[in-house]
Amino acid sequence: MKEQYLGVNVSPLTYEGIIDSLRRRIERNEQSTIIAVNPEKVMTAQDDPEVKQLINEATYQIADGVGILLASKLKGGNIDSRVTGVDMMGRLLLFARDEDHPVYFYGAKRDVLDRAIEAIERDYPRIPIAGATDGYFDDEEALIQSINDSGARIIFVALGSPKQELWIKRNMHRLPNVLVFQGVGGSFDVFSGEVKRAPEAFRKVGMEWLYRLATDPSRLKRQLNLPRFLWRIIRTK
Ligand code: UDP
Repeated sequence: MKEQYLGVNVSPLTYEGIIDSLRRRIERNEQSTIIAVNPEKVMTAQDDPEVKQLINEATYQIADGVGILLASKLKGGNIDSRVTGVDMMGRLLLFARDEDHPVYFYGAKRDVLDRAIEAIERDYPRIPIAGATDGYFDDEEALIQSINDSGARIIFVALGSPKQELWIKRNMHRLPNVLVFQGVGGSFDVFSGEVKRAPEAFRKVGMEWLYRLATDPSRLKRQLNLPRFLWRIIRTK
């Protein structure tokens, strides 16, 4: 059963729950989409019905961000651990390697993409990589052709939000053999080593946002969505 915060759906499934559910959907040849939900996206969705619809139409809305966890606690929901976009991508890479589903990487700058793939080939030996295209390549038709020709079953789209979700929505019907679409934002930057994740200690206590703010103060404006979101949740109790 999905939970809903300010009109935005969030799935209570864990990483394993999502992989199990995906496996069944792949067997039935059903396409699935995964989108990360955090307070920033929920707040954007308040002013933009298209974004709200995009999120709510996804197969899995994962609880990325400690704000969603807090909201679930406040509302008596069942979400008790984060499912981050970057870790979900890691689990999918393992799944792809173990069950032999070719993966495609689309997005990020060319050198970031190259370094991310190098790291993935090192950390997930024998993973079937179908292909990759950087996020500044602007011939959409050629890209669709290339993905279809590649035999990819899983695609990671790293263009930032909501650009990546719009791309998926616009193109998934033209990619009938791709069965899993994940919008992964800045995850290629993390896999490439370009962006460092917060140390484990910060992540464990739900303080990743503080680490990211300290290392990149320009995020303040985006992060103000966290208190705004919580305030709205409390008021609608
Ligand atoms: N990006 C891209 N093409 C674009 C715009 C952005 O490939 O036209 C990439 C950018 O290089 C970066 C990622 O999309 O790798 C966006 O990361 P960000 O952290 O902003 O995404 P978020 O997770 O915050 O949505």
